[in-house]
Amino acid sequence: MSDSYDIAVIGAGPAGANAAMTAARAGASVAVVDEQPKPGGQVWRAKSAAIVKAPATPETVLGDALRSDLAASDVTHLGDARVWQIERDSNGWVVYTLSLGKTIQIKAKALILATGAREYVQPIPGWTTPGVFGLAGATALFKQDLTLPGTNTVVSGTGPLVFFVASEIRRLGGQVAAIVTSNTRTDWARALPAMLQRPDLLWRGAVWVADLMLARVPIYWGHAATGVQGGPAVNVVTFQKLDKTGAPIGLTKKISADSLCLGNGLIPAIEAAQLAGASIEHRPELGGWVPKTQVDGTTDVPGLYVCGDGAGIRGAAAAEIQGELVGHAASVYVGKMSSSAPPGLKKAYARAARFGLAMTALNMPKPGYQVLTTPETILCRCESLTQATIVTEVASGAQSANAVKSGLRAGMGPCGGQFCQTAIARLIAQLDDGAEADVPLPIARPPLRPVPMAEIAGDFNYGDLPIPKPAPL
Ligand SMILES: Cc1cc2nc3c(=O)[nH]c(=O)nc-3n(C[C@H](O)[C@H](O)[C@H](O)COP(=O)(O)OP(=O)(O)OC[C@H]3O[C@@H](n4cnc5c(N)ncnc54)[C@H](O)[C@@H]3O)c2cc1C
Repeated sequence: MSDSYDIAVIGAGPAGANAAMTAARAGASVAVVDEQPKPGGQVWRAKSAAIVKAPATPETVLGDALRSDLAASDVTHLGDARVWQIERDSNGWVVYTLSLGKTIQIKAKALILATGAREYVQPIPGWTTPGVFGLAGATALFKQDLTLPGTNTVVSGTGPLVFFVASEIRRLGGQVAAIVTSNTRTDWARALPAMLQRPDLLWRGAVWVADLMLARVPIYWGHAATGVQGGPAVNVVTFQKLDKTGAPIGLTKKISADSLCLGNGLIPAIEAAQLAGASIEHRPELGGWVPKTQVDGTTDVPGLYVCGDGAGIRGAAAAEIQGELVGHAASVYVGKMSSSAPPGLKKAYARAARFGLAMTALNMPKPGYQVLTTPETILCRCESLTQATIVTEVASGAQSANAVKSGLRAGMGPCGGQFCQTAIARLIAQLDDGAEADVPLPIARPPLRPVPMAEIAGDFNYGDLPIPKPAPL
């Protein structure tokens, strides 16, 4: 099956949905594809169908507004649809999308990638114990299913999500055993001028912290979780103070808990941009490897645009506005608009991006953080590979995450490398006393998402397979 549009958009989060609606308003025919059943992306993730009623939150209000605007627009939304391959043809783009078990080829003159981000968790001893959740992953539990990670949870990591997750746990009736945040109060004070760009978001963060302090939840500033004890389930979380480099110092403290939410920022999801041929550069302030883009999402590939967190971690507010900028630019490319976006939009984007970049800086683990991953710590959870095994592989000549993958299968399990590849690249950089930017970027190959073999192979008869001649003796 094949469908043709002026513009195809991958990702129906704040960036992709707004890009799609802007282009549709300009008269372009637009399809937006997302593997989630409903639009909203990560930040405005929709509730599962089983939840009939729940109290409104800022996320549900914004998400519901986006969903109803998209439904009322001329955009074709394809939910539960995974993009697994992108190709160029003479007319533009072909987007191979698995929907209802079959691959649809969506054809378009222009392609907008709004694939968002994935979470980074610095591996610590015991982080694969049941009851340990990613910090960002935990927000999906709350938003989609109103589910708590446990009955008594330690929330640990970097950036603002620590406080959002802790206050959501309390709002849903759970107990927060402690907050262990690597950021110091000074780190936050330094971010204040940028945070003043969005007083509304600053106020929201202040309310989270005030609520937690009033509830007397212990907050350990400048500390990190260093381990999980308990065997089959979380029993105790250990933590330590950090020095200026982010390395643990001093006494190891313990807290009893049955769950841990742990996370250290977000990494742009760039694999689709790599497949589409965009040039990629390393920009630590944007979260790591990103496609080279302009403010309006233009890349160095004609007809290819990237926006939102997939172009660099600038947060939801910036993603929403950039979506509009990109919608304008792509509409001009397909001949549905003659002028670019109004200057006011670029200014609003700059303000939101400044706020978002300050949060990204707070999210980034400091270099000393690497020490939290001990030789016995599992680094590739799909293949149960410890850091020590990977260090041996690196010492034998594997100088990139791809080389480690070839030697040990790290990154070939169900997560497709989403958990381990950045951790491996950062480990290689540490071992070489170098920077992550010096470690070759992992290569992206189709399928971008798991897909049945038959969808890749296509229709064929076994009888048609050529049988090679026997090799000469
Ligand atoms: C797990 C997670 C939870 C987060 N929670 C919060 C939060 O609570 N509060 C907050 O302020 N920020 C949160 N963030 C950050 C926030 O998501 C972003 O700042 C914001 O949503 C960026 O918007 P976006 O449109 O660029 O990307 P997203 O909202 O992430 O949207 C990207 C969309 O692309 C889809 N997609 C990606 N690849 C494919 C593919 N191959 N095929 C089909 N669909 C695809 C995804 O399903 C997703 O819906 C979270 C990030 C993550 C990773």
